[in-house]
Amino acid sequence: MAAPRAEVTAYVALGANLGNAEQALRQALAALEGIPGARVQRASSLYRTAPVDASGPDYLNAVAEIATTLTAPALLDALQAIEQAAGRERPYRNAPRTLDLDLLLYGQARIDSPRLTLPHPRMGERAFVLVPLAEIAPQLVSAGALEAVAGQRIERRP
Ligand code: ATP
Ligand code: CA
Ligand code: CA
Repeated sequence: MAAPRAEVTAYVALGANLGNAEQALRQALAALEGIPGARVQRASSLYRTAPVDASGPDYLNAVAEIATTLTAPALLDALQAIEQAAGRERPYRNAPRTLDLDLLLYGQARIDSPRLTLPHPRMGERAFVLVPLAEIAPQLVSAGALEAVAGQRIERRP
C-alpha cells in the first residue's frame, strides 16, 4: 500500500460580486469542506471591498486555510469545479463573477506553469487578499505588505 501523503497547508482566496455574494461565499466554504482530501482549518471574516481594475458592484472577499493531501494542481481542479458549479462564467478579463477561488499559497511551493502560478502572482497588490489572510495567518503578512495596500477600501463585515 502506498504511504499516505503528508498534509500541506494551503490558502484559498474567495471572492464574489454578483447575485447574493454572501450566500455564494458561505456555500463555497461549505464546498471547500466537501473536497475529498481537504479540510478547512480556518476561515476569515467576510470583507466588503471595492473592485480593483474592474467595474461592477462591491465584492465580498474572504480567505480560508486548508489542510490537504491533494497536490496543488488537483486542489486547483477542485476549486475550479466549485466555481463551475456556482455558475462562473469568464466573458472577459476581470469581469464580475458569481465566485472566484484563487489558490494563494500551497505550503512553500513555487510553481510557474501555464495553469498554475504559486504563490499567486498578484496577492501582494491586493488588500482584499492580504487583510483577510492577515486575520487568519498573521505570520504570513508583514506590516509593510499591509502598509502597501492601505489605500484600498476594505471593510470587515460585522
Ligand atoms: P487573477 O488571477 O488576477 O485574480 P482571475 O481570478 O479573474 O484573475 P481567472 O479567470 O479566475 O482569473 O483565472 C485565469 C486562470 O488563472 C485560470 O484558468 C488558472 O488556470 C490560472 N491560474 C494560475 N495560477 C493560479 C492560482 N494560483 N490560482 C488560481 N488560478 C490560477
Ligand atoms: Ca482572482
Ligand atoms: Ca481566479
